[in-house]
Amino acid sequence: MTFHVYNSLTRSKAPFSTIEDGVVRMYNCGPTVYGRPHIGNYRSFLFADILRRWLEYLGYEVRQVMNITDVGHLTDDTEADSSGEDKVEARARAEKKDPFEITREYTAMFLEDMAALGVKEPMARPKATEYIDEMVEMVEALIEKGHAYRVGENVYFDVTSFPEYGRLSGNRVDDLEAGKRVEVNEEKRHPADFALWKSDAAHLMKWDTVFGADGFPGWHIECSAMAKALLGERVDIHTGGEDNVFPHHECEIAQSACANGVPLAEVWMHAKFLQVDGGKMSKSLGNVYTLPDVVGRGFEPRHLRFALVRGHYRTQINFTWAIMDEIRARLENLDEIAVLLHRILDGGAAAADGAGRETLTAAIDGFEAGMNDDLNMPVALAALEGLRKPLLDGTLGADVARDAMAWLERANSVLGFIETGAQSADAEVEALIEARTAAKAAKDWAAADAARDALTALGIEIQDTPEGVVWRRR
Ligand SMILES: [Zn+2]
Repeated sequence: MTFHVYNSLTRSKAPFSTIEDGVVRMYNCGPTVYGRPHIGNYRSFLFADILRRWLEYLGYEVRQVMNITDVGHLTDDTEADSSGEDKVEARARAEKKDPFEITREYTAMFLEDMAALGVKEPMARPKATEYIDEMVEMVEALIEKGHAYRVGENVYFDVTSFPEYGRLSGNRVDDLEAGKRVEVNEEKRHPADFALWKSDAAHLMKWDTVFGADGFPGWHIECSAMAKALLGERVDIHTGGEDNVFPHHECEIAQSACANGVPLAEVWMHAKFLQVDGGKMSKSLGNVYTLPDVVGRGFEPRHLRFALVRGHYRTQINFTWAIMDEIRARLENLDEIAVLLHRILDGGAAAADGAGRETLTAAIDGFEAGMNDDLNMPVALAALEGLRKPLLDGTLGADVARDAMAWLERANSVLGFIETGAQSADAEVEALIEARTAAKAAKDWAAADAARDALTALGIEIQDTPEGVVWRRR
């Protein structure tokens, strides 16, 4: 069975194919760094990580980009043309700090959490503030092509110039006009038009550009410009949380298609919200949990990883502390599969060679069929969990156990939450290379040198090339 994915844009499931053979270009909407992300935010990021790992399991080279929004995301983000305060600046004012200091601090916390949750480093983590020129260029192209217009130092996208506006979310321009989801703004030609560039002398993070001296980008144009700069005009997959569908992705689709003349993404995928205690998490209920809260209750980050990816990404899942206790027990059972396999491989009792071959094949087939069906994790996990009973019953041969162990490592290269007890040497090398790349990107030269020294100690020679880091054993 080939990989089938559900496309939010066509509202249907179809076989996955790529623009370029063997290569997947994937853009994931990342966090707005104005506070420590809560566990609900991580559901969407972990979904992107599992998707990337599954594509790699299938043999694709994945060029993954996950941005960091460090400017321009306003507080009232249910409107296409958000109003209110910039989320980063609001926090900077509350904490009486410089906004750049705020984004640095919360970016560091985000990256720390992502590493603890076992998320693989993407090819790039662009920060919006580092792509201002590309955004301006795209806005200028939209004006030139008649899809955007200037009013003083503000620039708006003309939604009537793109008949497909509303296709992803199902919001029709006329309904938007009639409803209350658009801001009353005399400057705009149509109430549903949204800002590409805003001007505000009081804004703390602002840039002097062709549009004026005190401008900053709209949130939506950021992702369109960063996707183009790093992945090109067309990507295979674009992901986000369900809250990104409207307005963020609807606006991205319009801007990119109009500026580039081609659709931005072939497939749009959205992860559902996480429920906490059976409902929406809220400050008043005191259940807006973060990873440190979960660890503070005695759980490991991998327990949370399992909890957040165990359901199908398009279904509601719930988080409670009682569920976390169940998660811990269930993960112990998965770890036990590895323990039982190691016992056989270390010379323990086993059935005759060849025994249990069909059991293993059924587990592998079931896992792959589940994952290939739009990442149906419950089906995939049930197939994997099916290996435990035959192991407890002692019905696997030693040769089958060896193959089972090799495959379990492979399955865990996707899942990333089982303790298989034998981290492969390659995985260790890759992890160190990723750590060095991340440290270099953060200009943390001491950490980058430390990672390089650790690699040297393992007898690994590395070489930086335009295509990335290449390594070999000495
Ligand atoms: Zn985005």
